[in-house]
Amino acid sequence: MDLAHLTGWAALAITVGAVIFRAGYRMGREDASGYGEDQERQQETSYTFRGLNFLLSDEPDKAIEAFVNVVRINSETVEIHLSLGNLFRARGEVGRAIRIHQNLIARPNLSEANRKAALYALAEDYRQGGFVDRAVDSYRRVLDLDANHRKALAGLQALHENEGRWDMALEVLRRLVQVTGEDDPRREAHLLIKIGLEQAKATAEGGSLPGVDWFRKAIRKYPGCVEAYRLLGEAQLAQGKTKAAIQTFATLKKNRPSHFFMLVEPLKRAYAIKGDLEGFESCMRNAVNAPSASPRLMVLWSRELQGRNRIREAVDVLLKGYAKYPGSVVLARLLIRLLESLNREEEALGVAVRCLDHMLAKQPGFQCSLCGFQSQDIYWKCPQCHRWDTMEPM
Ligand SMILES: [Zn+2]
Repeated sequence: MDLAHLTGWAALAITVGAVIFRAGYRMGREDASGYGEDQERQQETSYTFRGLNFLLSDEPDKAIEAFVNVVRINSETVEIHLSLGNLFRARGEVGRAIRIHQNLIARPNLSEANRKAALYALAEDYRQGGFVDRAVDSYRRVLDLDANHRKALAGLQALHENEGRWDMALEVLRRLVQVTGEDDPRREAHLLIKIGLEQAKATAEGGSLPGVDWFRKAIRKYPGCVEAYRLLGEAQLAQGKTKAAIQTFATLKKNRPSHFFMLVEPLKRAYAIKGDLEGFESCMRNAVNAPSASPRLMVLWSRELQGRNRIREAVDVLLKGYAKYPGSVVLARLLIRLLESLNREEEALGVAVRCLDHMLAKQPGFQCSLCGFQSQDIYWKCPQCHRWDTMEPM
C-alpha cells in the first residue's frame, strides 16, 4: 500500500473508532428503547467491527463491503460516508468518491461542519479527477463557509499554480500566509515574476516599462531571487539604463554569491555597452577573491582570462580555487587541461588524483538496484524498500 492508501485507511479507522464509541454510548443510555431499534444497532456495531477487522488484516475490499452495510443500516453516519469517499479517492476510484460526497452535500439537515468537510472532500475528488473548474468552485464554497480553511486554501493555491493562473495563485498564497503565519518568500517572488512576465508580454507592443515593477517587488520579497535580478537587469538594458543594469546584476554578488556566476554574461554585456571592460575586470576580481566565491565563478573568470590569452593568471585563479574546493569537478577539469597545455603534466596528474580521492570519499559504496537507496555499507535487506539482496556495489 502506498502512503495515500495508508492515510485513507488511518482516517477511516479513526472515524470508525469514534462511531463505535458513540454507538456504545447511545446503547448504554437508551437501554429502555424499542427492541427492533436495539437489534439494528447491534447489527450496525457488528458490521463496524467486522469492517475494522478487515481493515486491520489489510483486506480493503471486504472492509469497504462491511462499511457499506453500516451505511445502509444507519444512513446518518456522515463520518463513515465521508471517509468511505476519501478511501475510494485514495484508491483512484474518483467517480465513486464524487458520488458519495455529492450525496452528502445534498442532505438538507447536514451540520455546517459536515457540509464543510464534504465540500472539501469533493474539491479534492475533482482535483484528483482533473475537473479543474469544479474543484476551484468547491474550494471556494468551502472558503465561503470558513475563510481560514488552511487545506482548502493550500489546495486552491496549488491548483491555480498548476493552471498558470499566477495572479490568483498569488492572491490565495497571501491569504494562506496570513492564516498560517508561515511566509513563503521564494514562492511569492516567483509568482510575482510570472505576473511581471505576463504583463511584459501584453505590453511589449506598447513599449512601456515591461514588468519592471513586478521584478522589483520579487527582489524585495526575496533578496536572493536570481531570476528577478536577471529580468530586471535585462529590462534596464533594453531601456538604455546601463548603469542601473550593472548595479542590478552586481547586487546578486552580495545577496546570493553561490548563484552570481549565472549573471556574469549579462554583466559583461552591460559593461561592454558602457565601454568599460576595466570596470568589468575589477568587479570580477573582487568577486573571485571574496571568501564567498563559488567554483563556477572561478571557472568563468579563468575562461575569460584564457580568452584574453592571459594563461598564467587563468591557471592561478584555478589553483587558488582548487586549494579551497578540492572536490570540485568543474574546477579540476579546466585546471587539468590548462596545466597540460602548459606541459605541466605532473601537476595535472596530482590534481586529477586528489579530485578522484575526494569524489570517492563522498561516493556511497552500495546502491539498491530497486529503489536507489544508497549507503556506505551493504544491507542484505534494503532498509528503504525491504527487499532482500538488492544492493549492488557502485
Ligand atoms: Zn531498496
